Amino acid sequence: MTDDPQDVPMAVGCLVAGEWLVDGQHADRVSPWTRAVVSTARQAGDADVEAARRYARRGAKAVARMSPAARAGVLERAADTALARRDELARLLALELGKPVKDGRGEIDRVADTFAVCAAEARRIGGEVLPVAGWARGVGNTALTHRAPVGVTLAITPFNAPANLLAHKLGASFAAGNTTMVKPPPQAPASSVAVVRLLLDSGMPPEAVQVLHGGGPVGAALSSAPEVGVISFTGSPETGAAVARSAGAKRLVMELGGNAATIICEDADIAAAARICAATGYSNSGQSCISVQRVYVHRSRYAEFLEAFTFAVEKLTVGDPLDPATDVGSMVDDDAAERVVAWAQDAAAGGASITTGGRRDGATVIPTVVASAPADARLIREEVFGAAVAVQSFDDFDEVLGTCNESRYGLQAGLFTHDVRRILTAWRELEVGGLIVNGSSNFRLDHVPFGGVKDSGFGREAPRWMIDDYTVVKTLLLRGMSLHGDQEEI
Ligand code: NAD
Repeated sequence: MTDDPQDVPMAVGCLVAGEWLVDGQHADRVSPWTRAVVSTARQAGDADVEAARRYARRGAKAVARMSPAARAGVLERAADTALARRDELARLLALELGKPVKDGRGEIDRVADTFAVCAAEARRIGGEVLPVAGWARGVGNTALTHRAPVGVTLAITPFNAPANLLAHKLGASFAAGNTTMVKPPPQAPASSVAVVRLLLDSGMPPEAVQVLHGGGPVGAALSSAPEVGVISFTGSPETGAAVARSAGAKRLVMELGGNAATIICEDADIAAAARICAATGYSNSGQSCISVQRVYVHRSRYAEFLEAFTFAVEKLTVGDPLDPATDVGSMVDDDAAERVVAWAQDAAAGGASITTGGRRDGATVIPTVVASAPADARLIREEVFGAAVAVQSFDDFDEVLGTCNESRYGLQAGLFTHDVRRILTAWRELEVGGLIVNGSSNFRLDHVPFGGVKDSGFGREAPRWMIDDYTVVKTLLLRGMSLHGDQEEI
């Protein structure tokens, strides 16, 4: 076995204190589509965590000495390298996760964007000259601030977008001048290491990153490490709460779950809305925290939408993730696929109708549309994180905003209307971190702040906002030296 991405199964090492460790205990990742072992990852033990913590303390000092221009240069080269290796990385994502190569290529294009934006932001980290002489006690002094690196950060990533979410966390942390410890998802060790290699091969010093594979216990041990200044976590709310308990009083950025709603008003372009919801409700088999899960359509257009949407969903190509024509591949494992089918059937038992899908083939869920689900169905109330969408009707706009807000989650929402008054009302009233107008909930630009409210978490992921989280404001107060006028009168 080798760590060459062309050779399957791949041997994936832990990167600790500048060394790739391959000997020791391993965990295999079995592809949910081919059912063969794709990668086998060296698992981190207690001694590795200990060594990583020691090295991180030294690494933080070394990285902080690098100039922002040098860090930006690495990130820019990594953006180019990502594009050059796009097909290789998309293939790995398809093998480890069942993600269609079409989606995988899109994810790697976004990795390149994310690194490029991180580079641009690295170049403009600065500070302020404070108006200290505006208050009598400050007269005669000068005060300055700058944003200094926190030192050591921890990135814990989920399986569903392991490349771009790691690019966000590691890219922004390095842009800010930190060293990062990475805890990748057990389902995508090779894809995660391939992203780290993009940076290392582009000149990132080994002091800037370490990778420790494993499950909850490794994540918990790293979260509790006193050296760690900031944890950026993406995953489920339950795991997020466990991370917070292990972390204690540390700065946290939490990107958690969602059961996103999209509202379609009576003035909407129904054909376009149906097409967009079909494309964005089932991409990556619905395994996105902002995937279209609940669609609320005005009753006057409900039947028209349901027919157009079901038709568009049936036209999606389901099958081999490695085939570039495939729209919907497999889910992460059979249990996840079974959950999605069971929730659709529960809704049907409560009076809903399944207009298409409602079954699975191994880990592949046939794209499922559930019409008029009961309000207390799990498909409405919880996060399905799979290839099933509920289509509901509404009569009153203000009322549907309230229905959307009944969720414990609040990540993003979609709204199809041309009515400016409704757009502003929804922006004001919806309990979400972002509203997408004339698009579904499932749209993200990597340079625009992204994150949730309520159980969807806190913090905003996009390089500019992440750099704020990954830095501390340091103040310099020069006494008896004034940039400003210091006389009472002339
Ligand atoms: P998960 O919570 O099971 O795991 C996420 C990561 O946490 C993994 O690396 C896992 O190994 C690690 N982990 C598990 N237990 C831990 C512990 N006790 N301490 C520290 N780390 C621990 O999530 P998942 O199944 O990989 O991903 C799906 C979830 O992620 C969904 O809920 C989805 O909505 C969410 N998600 C959110 C966003 C967002 O930006 N808000 C984006 C993608 C996914």
